[in-house]
Amino acid sequence: MPNLHEIIAQIQRELYCPVCGKNYEIGEIRLRGLFDHTLIVQTMCDSGHVTLFMTTIKNVTREKHPLKTDDILDLQKSLENFNGDFQTIWKP
Ligand SMILES: [Zn+2]
Repeated sequence: MPNLHEIIAQIQRELYCPVCGKNYEIGEIRLRGLFDHTLIVQTMCDSGHVTLFMTTIKNVTREKHPLKTDDILDLQKSLENFNGDFQTIWKP
């Protein structure tokens, strides 16, 4: 199943600040919610521009990880105990 690391790594690669064009550091990305297959992601670039993104998990994970309902439920469960701080789960 897709894990948070993969999803956030993908977000970090593909999203950039729409105001100043900067890419985000892991610590600047916050997950705000998961609704159905849609992730709500809040970012703040180092210039302080706050942006909300919505992205579907289907697109984030591409075809190499076909999603099943169980995967979504597992992800949702892990998000329930998640405070939105990726730095704490990003340790190698
Ligand atoms: Zn910015």
